[in-house]
Amino acid sequence: MADIKQILVTGGAGLLGANLCRRLLNDGHNVICLDNFFTSQSLNIDELRDNPHFTLIEHDVIEPIDLQVDEIYNLACPASPPHYQHNPIMTTRTSVDGAFNMLELALKNNAKILQASTSEVYGDPNITPQPESYRGNVNPIGPRACYDEGKRCAETIFFDYHRMKNANIRVMRIFNTYGPFMHPYDGRVVSNFILQALDNRDITLYGDGLQTRSFCYVDDLIEGMIRLMNAPDSTPNPVNIGNPNEFTIKQLAEQIIHITGAQSKMVYEPLPADDPLQRCPDISRAREHLNWEPQIQLHEGLIKTIEYFRNIDLSQFKLPTPNESHPHRVA
Ligand code: NAD
Ligand code: UDP
Repeated sequence: MADIKQILVTGGAGLLGANLCRRLLNDGHNVICLDNFFTSQSLNIDELRDNPHFTLIEHDVIEPIDLQVDEIYNLACPASPPHYQHNPIMTTRTSVDGAFNMLELALKNNAKILQASTSEVYGDPNITPQPESYRGNVNPIGPRACYDEGKRCAETIFFDYHRMKNANIRVMRIFNTYGPFMHPYDGRVVSNFILQALDNRDITLYGDGLQTRSFCYVDDLIEGMIRLMNAPDSTPNPVNIGNPNEFTIKQLAEQIIHITGAQSKMVYEPLPADDPLQRCPDISRAREHLNWEPQIQLHEGLIKTIEYFRNIDLSQFKLPTPNESHPHRVA
């Protein structure tokens, strides 16, 4: 392989990180996975440990670190609402201090750095689909603010490091992504519904279930991430990456019940505060500049993800946070 790189993946044991580490190793690179295992466990990367091209560093991105790297994918941050609301101060610090520390590391190494930002920077959007130019509708003092504002501030830090210090940045706004290596107890809608359906339990719809999300299968997301990292420096930032096919949460539940053949019924529970009513990416920029668009639609992606959940041993997974932050988890 012509261009073997030393690549740091922070949050490398999580859903996106575990898939990204595998893809980068398959592409022939040396991968350093940095994680503090807050919302994941080493199960996701255990099989990689014997690979001589893989290194695991247990570390918190809130603390500085010195490494030799060519590229950094900065993914470290709890992503599911119950997890990021568990210790909101640490969530903000992870986004903000993590951004400073990883940007300093990038500058020291003259390395490219990609920030995993989020559709949450748009908050509860009042336009749809959301283009990158939309400035968002975020409640700065609500329970989701630690994540939304932490990620918004991280974007600010990335752009200021670019303007002031010429950091070579990529900022990717990720829309709801699911797939193998999701933590079964992360409290996100896809994992909750699949576990409930596999166990023939009630499916918990929050609110009226008519709020929408646009679900992207993880392989598509990782392809977009790698294309953005490898795109010319002149590529505009930030870039939305997500699947623009929008579904209500109720439609998601119906698909999961259908695929699993579950006997589950749907039950309605209160909508969490500040829960966005709609979310759908405008991916024109990714189409034009990365020649990217998702290939795997929801039905196919759910079949793969349900197969993953059928085959994991749930007893091996511990709750990432205490039970009270998972009021809706399955037992
Ligand atoms: P995840 O919770 O599965 O993985 C996050 C990983 O980061 C975990 O392995 C966790 O242990 C690690 N981590 C958390 N805090 C850390 C810290 N202080 N130091 C070191 N490691 C830490 O979540 P994910 O879905 O893989 O998300 C990865 C990134 O992508 C996050 O930054 C998230 O905000 C972003 N993102 C994800 C989605 C999505 O739908 N999956 C959507 C938008 C943005
Ligand atoms: N949701 C739900 N039942 C669940 C978990 C989540 O109805 O068991 C809803 C949640 O209120 C939100 C959507 O599903 O409207 C997506 O939730 P998730 O936590 O996966 O991600 P978010 O996009 O809110 O960050």
